[in-house]
Amino acid sequence: MKYVYFFGRGHADGGRELKTLLGGKGANIAEMTNLGVPVPPGFTITTDVCRHHLMSDELPDGAREQVDEALRRLEKVAGKKFGGHEDPLLVSVRSGAAVSMPGMMDTILNLGLNDASVAALARVSGDERFAWDSYRRFLQMYGDVVLGVEHAGFEKILSKVRTAAGVESDAEIPADGLRDVVSQYRDLIAQQGTDPFPDSPVDQLWGAIGAVFRSWRNERAIAYRKTYGIPHDLGTAVNVQAMVYGNRGPTSGTGVAFTRNASTGERKLFGEFLVNAQGEDVVAGIRDPLSIDDVGDHLPGVYEQLTETAERLEAHYKEMQDLEFTVEDGTLYLLQTRTGKRTARAAVRIAVEMAAEGLIDRREAVSRVEPERLEQVLHPMVDPDADYVPLAVGNPASPGAATGRVVFTAREAVEKAAEGGDPVVLVRTETSPDDFEGMVAAVAIVTSRGGKSSHAAVVARGMGKTCVVGTKSLTIDEEAGEIRADGRTVRRGEWITVDGSSGEVIPGRVATVQPEPGEFFDRLMGWADEFRRLRVRANADNPEDASTARRFAAEGIGLCRTEHMFFGDERIDAVREMILAADGAGRRRALDKLLPMQRSDFEGIFRAMDGLPVTIRLLDPPLHEFLPTEPGEIERVARALDRSIEDVEAAVTRLIEANPMLGHRGCRLGFSHPEISRMQARAIFEAALDAKAAGADVRPEVMVPLVGHVAELRNQRDLVEETAREVFAERDDRVDYLVGTMIELPRACLTAGPIAAAADFFSFGTNDLTQTTLGLSRDDAGSFLPLYIEAGVYAKDPFQSLDIEGVGRLMRAAVREGRAERPHLKVGICGEHGGDPDSVAFCHGLGMDYVSCSPFRVPVARLAAAHAALREAAETERR
Ligand code: PEP
Ligand code: MG
Repeated sequence: MKYVYFFGRGHADGGRELKTLLGGKGANIAEMTNLGVPVPPGFTITTDVCRHHLMSDELPDGAREQVDEALRRLEKVAGKKFGGHEDPLLVSVRSGAAVSMPGMMDTILNLGLNDASVAALARVSGDERFAWDSYRRFLQMYGDVVLGVEHAGFEKILSKVRTAAGVESDAEIPADGLRDVVSQYRDLIAQQGTDPFPDSPVDQLWGAIGAVFRSWRNERAIAYRKTYGIPHDLGTAVNVQAMVYGNRGPTSGTGVAFTRNASTGERKLFGEFLVNAQGEDVVAGIRDPLSIDDVGDHLPGVYEQLTETAERLEAHYKEMQDLEFTVEDGTLYLLQTRTGKRTARAAVRIAVEMAAEGLIDRREAVSRVEPERLEQVLHPMVDPDADYVPLAVGNPASPGAATGRVVFTAREAVEKAAEGGDPVVLVRTETSPDDFEGMVAAVAIVTSRGGKSSHAAVVARGMGKTCVVGTKSLTIDEEAGEIRADGRTVRRGEWITVDGSSGEVIPGRVATVQPEPGEFFDRLMGWADEFRRLRVRANADNPEDASTARRFAAEGIGLCRTEHMFFGDERIDAVREMILAADGAGRRRALDKLLPMQRSDFEGIFRAMDGLPVTIRLLDPPLHEFLPTEPGEIERVARALDRSIEDVEAAVTRLIEANPMLGHRGCRLGFSHPEISRMQARAIFEAALDAKAAGADVRPEVMVPLVGHVAELRNQRDLVEETAREVFAERDDRVDYLVGTMIELPRACLTAGPIAAAADFFSFGTNDLTQTTLGLSRDDAGSFLPLYIEAGVYAKDPFQSLDIEGVGRLMRAAVREGRAERPHLKVGICGEHGGDPDSVAFCHGLGMDYVSCSPFRVPVARLAAAHAALREAAETERR
């Protein structure tokens, strides 16, 4: 069995297709080597070895020998001896899983140094300072990662020596000072390490390999995998690679670059470079780096080579790349390339521009943007007209705007989020991977140190979370529980607003607005629309929401919940009068008041949706939801309706149900109070004729809720049709309309054939259908359903993503039987699932006509529908 894959001198054993075995980093290093990109030679130990090691704490047979052999081959290629006393070969040992987990696992640099080889390194490099700096870095990393010595202990020593030498940065500590640091580090390790520091380079190597394997199981890596749904049994590969040095003086350095801008998507090399530094300095965000553009002034040859290599890699991978590189004495080396993480906005622009450049086709462009992320493109921004003075301005690292209460630690963020109170903003000097869970819990992250590729920035962008980094003027005083800038103070628990697009950190709560999605978004969505078959409608209850939906290209209203039109003081009084009416005449009087209100809303919606279908649902919820419960409210209602308090109280009590979700609601209301359905039908048809008279092309669809038996639908259909005839006769005009039903009860699914005989359309109300199929109350599930999801009973919340096995099976039967009865039956979905990409794909597979979701989810559903169609086409092609 092959456990070790070598790369060097333009040839590698592996390639990018071996990602599962070599990890992303190892596979791409091999690929780059084969492409002739300058990569330091080395070898990759496979994920098989890691899995074996994690299970048994031992190496598989033959792995040790293969590593020894690869090491000998590396010595030959490098022309140096590992940890040798003349010109020592030093190596880096890096983790690299099949799925990128930035910063979550461990890395060790400069491995192979000891008291003897450091002297040799000083001699051959002619730079004593560099040699001792490398050694102290190695001791620090090895001590921390392999021997379990607290990081802070090393920092303390370093800072004391810095002070003694009278310098501000580590780069200024002279060789003697570093020698002193090394000696103190060795003492510290001897006192606090789990084992003595091994002088033998080979022992060092095995110590490091074991530690990298174990880091797969460290807490932050586990938390990261949980968040991103990465399986826990993949394991990591280990890359052992000849060192190149970014810390060899002013013509050396280390950097990261994206082939396109990871925030905006602009096609321009974007990144950062730290002069005279090693890799971990950049990611840690400890010093302020140069921008990539400035590298052009500083090292023009390197800049040119970097640009050329970046272009070559992007053309090869046909994807935006995230590169890590080191410059040693003016020579460029690539250490890593991988698909670059990007904001949703950048993802859209990059996909569109790559298609325009001919790098990928339009199908690929559409497939590359995850539907779920589109909502981020529509993220709120701080209202440009808002009046405020920012507390401080940092680097805008991840766009969006968010408001929350200040917390200082990841733990506080996690605790506050678990309590479910106000949102929190995590404010830290800098973040480390240990803060990951806190970052997940917070709505935004602010740091006072670090650049755009610091840990906080990279992680936040990946999560699509608002983030500002390097806010230098901000003093973060965790002990005093406050942040300060410019003579102003915000205390722990107080509100701040963070603008991840401008970098502003603003005291208090500031209004946010919704941005225009922009040209690239429109083009991508246009392509998606060409590919999809499902139509996408919106759930909207008023003319404004209908206009928003239309802006996002909704192709109609799939659900207008009429009861939402009854909120608001004036209207609710009329509704209450209707419910509390002593007799039919009193009820009709109240309904007469409601009629014009409903009519004008419907007319507004019809006009906003000119030329598109509008599905209006008859009244659905239990009546007592409209009644007052507080004593003060009851009194006020009694006065307004000229009734006694006791009378109103008695009515409220009479209407209370033990199980209102399964009680007197839906079409059962219209069945027992036909005058309500008549009033609503009248409002719909009068509004339709008014809108028509104003020039609109109206297409009303009247929808009957919570039908379980076809007789219920027939009853309501008769009322609606009678009313339509009356109104059309009165007005001497008519419109075409449909009458259909929601399918939201198991019985409706099981008797879909007969129901279809009375329905022009079906619309799955999957909120209720999920509730009734699972026997799980939508209102009460919150307290225990998360436990079920955690335990894996349901992979996802069935109220968000369709339970395909159960609810989906009923839906499939209903579509089949409905269409068997009425072949052109129009079928859609209007439960929350209509905006969930997996559920949209399922609806596509069922051959539905449309999905309907909230206005802001419309683009998500459009793209998800395109993905479903493209996947189906690709599968058909494969067969
Ligand atoms: C449903 O049940 O899925 C539905 C859309 O109706 P509501 O959420 O209003 O009950
Ligand atoms: Mg419902």
